[in-house]
Amino acid sequence: MRGKVSGETACKACGARMLFVETVKGKRMPVDLEPVEFVPDLNGRNKYVLEDGNVVTGVPAEPGDQDKHRGYISHFATCPYGARFRRR
Ligand SMILES: [Zn+2]
Repeated sequence: MRGKVSGETACKACGARMLFVETVKGKRMPVDLEPVEFVPDLNGRNKYVLEDGNVVTGVPAEPGDQDKHRGYISHFATCPYGARFRRR
């Protein structure tokens, strides 16, 4: 990441450590500490932040996938209490 990461913090819901990453839209998004591999998919349910701050929708990469990228996955996707963030 190039200066987009703005501090480590702990999730208020589950206590996991996470980072805030600034997206190209200037929004601060909480993500898991370690980048993961994913495959872009418009119908995916996870959001990933790339090193350049772009946000991509995708699904976790599986062995054998060709079009793999690395990015930080939104903590909302992995938080065991994620449902409370998604509630509308
Ligand atoms: Zn959490």
